[in-house]
Amino acid sequence: MRIGVFKFASCDGCQIAFFDMSDKLLDLGFQIDYFIEAQSTNRFNEFDLSFVEGSISTPEQENLIKKIREKSKKLITIGACADSGGIQSIRNFMDFKEVLSSVYPNPDYIKTLEKSKPVSDYVNVDLEIRGCPINPHQLYEVVVSLYLGKTPYLPEYPLCLECKRKGNPCVLVLGKPCLGSVIKAGCGALCPSFNAGCYGCYGPVEKPNLDSLKEIFRERGLGDLYEKILTSFNGYNRVYRERYEKG
Ligand code: SF4
Ligand code: SF4
Ligand code: SF4
Repeated sequence: MRIGVFKFASCDGCQIAFFDMSDKLLDLGFQIDYFIEAQSTNRFNEFDLSFVEGSISTPEQENLIKKIREKSKKLITIGACADSGGIQSIRNFMDFKEVLSSVYPNPDYIKTLEKSKPVSDYVNVDLEIRGCPINPHQLYEVVVSLYLGKTPYLPEYPLCLECKRKGNPCVLVLGKPCLGSVIKAGCGALCPSFNAGCYGCYGPVEKPNLDSLKEIFRERGLGDLYEKILTSFNGYNRVYRERYEKG
């Protein structure tokens, strides 16, 4: 099975999951043809599985993702940048020219797209592995399942379920911001397990009850944080952004 791992606008954190799993993948006989982060010799041919980290933020990236799609039997996005636009998509909610001139002294030299968008805005995506970063065990589940011709098992239920299974006291009830009820599980409720809030690394479930969460945040004096959190690194996920596009 030939694998390609590609990076777009991102911090590289999700690719690290491959280092955690690389021995197991090579033991199973997978051939990693393209992975610039990990090897100096790379071949851009045909791929059985392509994994894509990062959002599409420049015209070159828009062209490249289309070429990768043409060469790939299955294309899987990894992490919040690729699935939702990432931290760089915060600019999508701001005035683009102001953002450019506040970062670069000579913005005329910068060739970038006005919005940082998820990969699925440009090409068909077969599967999303969520997280910021992704969980290496979910990556392994996906690779092995696809190899065996099975549907990978990735949780669709909300983080609250993982949290309650661990017996954590609810930090939202204690007045800390937590998106657990509207995001997908996958991290084992890491932050609430240490009495911290959750900022939603795994992105929204398919039908989140955002109105209800907004009301709970407001009741607990967290109303200002609600919009800030939902317009951060997963803010441009298609499920969340329907709210903005509806006006
Ligand atoms: S999703 Fe998070 S960890 Fe992964 S590349 Fe983007 S910023 Fe880095
Ligand atoms: S702490 Fe967060 S994840 Fe845990 S039950 Fe409360 S809202 Fe859900
Ligand atoms: S609890 Fe929330 S913020 Fe913490 S790692 Fe999990 S998804 Fe991310």
